[in-house]
Amino acid sequence: MKEKKIEVIDRKRKKEERVVEEMIVLYCRKNHPKKDSRQRLCPVCQKLRDYAVARSEHCPFMEQKTFCANCKVHCYKPEMREQIRKVMKFSGPRMLFYHPGMALWHVVCSLREKNKMKAKEKDTNT
Ligand SMILES: [Zn+2]
Repeated sequence: MKEKKIEVIDRKRKKEERVVEEMIVLYCRKNHPKKDSRQRLCPVCQKLRDYAVARSEHCPFMEQKTFCANCKVHCYKPEMREQIRKVMKFSGPRMLFYHPGMALWHVVCSLREKNKMKAKEKDTNT
């Protein structure tokens, strides 16, 4: 049983890493012109991407949380947080166009998280 759980968490992790990566690639492509068009990421975004993946790999809340951007415990250091926020703001709405499946999943997760938080608030208020 326990192995199954780990498998689920791992799949979630990989999915999150893929979504984050796609968002960064999209952001970089539109905002950081590159001389070599085969280059997916500029050095700055490459660093951000590596950082995001590393955070995801080490996230102790992977089981409960749905997506790093919604994570209540913001584990990103300030400069990276600022960067990823910019990426999310830019790529979030555009993901719907480029990767509808992924974007939809992200929206569903965000809503679920919000509802969970609301429900918790209710619990503590009454
Ligand atoms: Zn870039």
